[in-house]
Amino acid sequence: MHSIEELAGQHFDAVIVGGGINGAGLARDLALRAHTAGHPLRILLLEKRFWGAGTSGKNSHLIHGGLRYLKYLDFRLVSEALRERALLLEMAPNTVRPLKFELTTNGLFDQLFYGAGIVLYDLLAGKHRIGKSTYLGEHLAYWDAASDSAALVIDNVRDARHYGATCISGRGVKRLSADAVELDNGIRVKAGCVIDARGPWMGGAEMRLVRGSHIVLPRLYAGDHAIAHFNSDGRIIFFIPWGDLEPVTLIGTTDVDHAETPDKVEISWSETEYLRSIAEQLFPASAQMPTVGCFSSLRPLLAVVGKSASATSREHQIGFRADGVLEIKGGKYTTYRSMAEEAANLVCTKIAPDDSLSTIFPTRTTPFAVPTKRPQTIEARIAWAKTEEGCPDLEAFMTCSTNWAWQKRWTPEDLAPIAAAFGGGAEAFLDLHSPCE
Ligand SMILES: Cc1cc2nc3c(=O)[nH]c(=O)nc-3n(C[C@H](O)[C@H](O)[C@H](O)COP(=O)(O)OP(=O)(O)OC[C@H]3O[C@@H](n4cnc5c(N)ncnc54)[C@H](O)[C@@H]3O)c2cc1C
Repeated sequence: MHSIEELAGQHFDAVIVGGGINGAGLARDLALRAHTAGHPLRILLLEKRFWGAGTSGKNSHLIHGGLRYLKYLDFRLVSEALRERALLLEMAPNTVRPLKFELTTNGLFDQLFYGAGIVLYDLLAGKHRIGKSTYLGEHLAYWDAASDSAALVIDNVRDARHYGATCISGRGVKRLSADAVELDNGIRVKAGCVIDARGPWMGGAEMRLVRGSHIVLPRLYAGDHAIAHFNSDGRIIFFIPWGDLEPVTLIGTTDVDHAETPDKVEISWSETEYLRSIAEQLFPASAQMPTVGCFSSLRPLLAVVGKSASATSREHQIGFRADGVLEIKGGKYTTYRSMAEEAANLVCTKIAPDDSLSTIFPTRTTPFAVPTKRPQTIEARIAWAKTEEGCPDLEAFMTCSTNWAWQKRWTPEDLAPIAAAFGGGAEAFLDLHSPCE
């Protein structure tokens, strides 16, 4: 792997800025195309923190068509996401798994309305349906999938490296132009094509930043299904069985316009109250339970005047901007592979105009080449994070390599051995991730 200093003055065919799912997915697509076609490409992926440290590691962890988008008649987005759901279940079986959802209903109208929604959802999935739905009665149910979302980002990075890409985390980019990037330490790298995959950090007047927060409570119910609750305000709140260390429930999400910098994203008191009150309505005993953890992240949505945050489309936009940089904006985690494919086509038309690379789509059929099944014990997981993932510190380990930061109320004693394995103390981490009450 290149060190940062070695990058100075070098030329890459494609430089991708941002190591969330969109940047990592694109790096893997380009590297795999180059490998498949026998057409060497120099690809560089740069991430300022660690892989999946942005929205891609702090979302609802669902690989889903999005039942709720049917309400907005967004059939194209739902169909595409359902197709991608099937593909990811096949290509990444260690990180993406089927998950049954039960719906809460309140009266006959709800049962008929949501039952019809599930029928439509399954019709749109067609041959990509997973599991058996229940369309009638009080106990409506359908199937979607869940992932470990930062892990899938990391797997994309590892696979991109496997096929020859250079992927460097811990270093931000200060300036981007059509043919070069400047790192925050002043080093300049030349590029055939520069891709902006900075997600919420991309800026621009047409981007609307919407914060989504989750809280984690102890496990609220028996069974390993999730619950989809359509709240009276029209929002959908998921209850997802979670936790490798202790059984907990992931509950989210909110939709609140975010006026601050993308570097400061925290759950507000009213978001915590909102999620806790819905939990209490469904599971009264939760009122006595402590919050185990919470996390927030930003949706970089395409702004549409007059639309609420929830109703704003999750459609993506990929194209060259006036400054010649290719940008990947909006979209859903679930559709990252097809977004990467669309972006890679545009990159290839610029850097390989003979069509040798823009007419092949190997990510549709190629499972991950690197091992993706994580070990279970804490010691083995730390070793895996260091060697397989290049995990640099406790923060990256607890939030990206694992989701452990939010799965347990950590004490200094619990955390000390893990912190020591990364060569530091636990205090700074505990200050940053104190449970949100
Ligand atoms: C609360 C919430 C829940 C969601 N749940 C789901 C879900 O369940 N299923 C689903 O399909 N979608 C979901 N989404 C949407 C999905 O998570 C996002 O669309 C997706 O993760 C966006 O990925 P990204 O790579 O564009 O952005 P990010 O993951 O934010 O990646 C951008 C990266 O760029 C890096 N970066 C920024 N500036 C620089 C710089 N100057 N130099 C280098 N690197 C830089 C950042 O550190 C970051 O890692 C959810 C979104 C939210 C907010």
